[in-house]
Amino acid sequence: MEIKVTQQAAKRIRRGYPLLQKRDLLDPIKENQWINFVDKQQNLVAKGYLGVQNNGVGWCLTTNDRPLDYAFFVELFFKARKKRENYYQEEKTNAFRLLNGAGDHLGGVTIDKYADFAVVSWYNQTLYHKQEKIITAFKEVFPEIKGIYEKLRFPTDQSHSRLLWGKSAPEPLYIKENNINYAVYLNEGLMTGIFLDQREVRKLFAEGFAKDQDLLNMFSYTGAFSIAAAAGGANTTTNVDLAKRSLKKTQEQFLANQIDLSKQTIHVMDTFAYFKYAKKKQLTFDCIILDPPSFARNKKKVFRVAKDYGELVRSSIAILKDQGVIMASSNAANVTSKKFQNMIEKALQNENVSYKLIKKFRLPQDFVVDSAYPAGDYLKVYFYQIKKD
Ligand code: SAH
Repeated sequence: MEIKVTQQAAKRIRRGYPLLQKRDLLDPIKENQWINFVDKQQNLVAKGYLGVQNNGVGWCLTTNDRPLDYAFFVELFFKARKKRENYYQEEKTNAFRLLNGAGDHLGGVTIDKYADFAVVSWYNQTLYHKQEKIITAFKEVFPEIKGIYEKLRFPTDQSHSRLLWGKSAPEPLYIKENNINYAVYLNEGLMTGIFLDQREVRKLFAEGFAKDQDLLNMFSYTGAFSIAAAAGGANTTTNVDLAKRSLKKTQEQFLANQIDLSKQTIHVMDTFAYFKYAKKKQLTFDCIILDPPSFARNKKKVFRVAKDYGELVRSSIAILKDQGVIMASSNAANVTSKKFQNMIEKALQNENVSYKLIKKFRLPQDFVVDSAYPAGDYLKVYFYQIKKD
């Protein structure tokens, strides 16, 4: 099947940019098959597929004229594995990303390793339709994987999570990261209990960044940052998340590491309500973690990183100790690192505090980013130390 693309798109794709938009196509969209993208002169531009997902309508997989067959996927997985050789050597950690979509030249799917199990996330119908060949190739290159779960991250009538192949994982499954245990659930909706892309940030806390400090973890989910911080000697942690599940799940994580619960507080509460509560109670913190979802709706209020992050920073200042640290984090792909930094610093300037950027994190190496596709480089984590004059 051939589809013509615009001259502009052809140029972009030949330079390595993999994602297609509707405006790039001169023929109608055809899903569920491999496609040769050609230019006006019928010359091959790239091979790939069309599949509508949240950020585009298809992906180019290679600019070479070769079949997208079993051997193609085996080679692709083999290269992905080779890039992560050092993660296999590392005994303190057994959960990391095995395939990072477009970063590994297979846009539309990611695969994570959780101990002996893999979790495959499909972002569009077409690649999901082609899963048999892809998963068979995956198993050939990763024979140590005992069971594979899949997540369907596109609109569908089917359930969004299931065991796809092999043995089922215990519930919870305990994974290890820098020798800290985390309880994960591989078959509970789309999320597993830990976001592997924050590994290096957790490591910083585990190594004592918040030692002897009082830490506030906003949008805490299962409390992963707090577990790491408590393991690294934090005095107390306070965890705030709106979801009811967060209470039990956060306790479970602390207990999995024999951490005393009496020094940990877990509030099932809206972040903005907690800011008011803490101010009223005159609570203050040495370190405040702000890691919200890119978009969230609570009752009538809608929170968007692109618009509302400054408000989080402003509210944090009121309950931060002098010389305290704000960890500002976002995974919003529509907010560049520059824009994110500007938003934070503008909010700090408006509060009339002096600040110093003391640490900065982007994606870890297993979340491979292709320089031709910078939108894949979505994670931004900035640590600001604040002086209140
Ligand atoms: N920081 C976490 C991940 C956060 S995921 C970690 O590193 O593990 C986003 C979380 O924000 C979800 O658990 C969701 O329940 C929570 N959330 C969304 N809106 C919220 C709000 N208004 N107040 C508090 N928590 C909220």
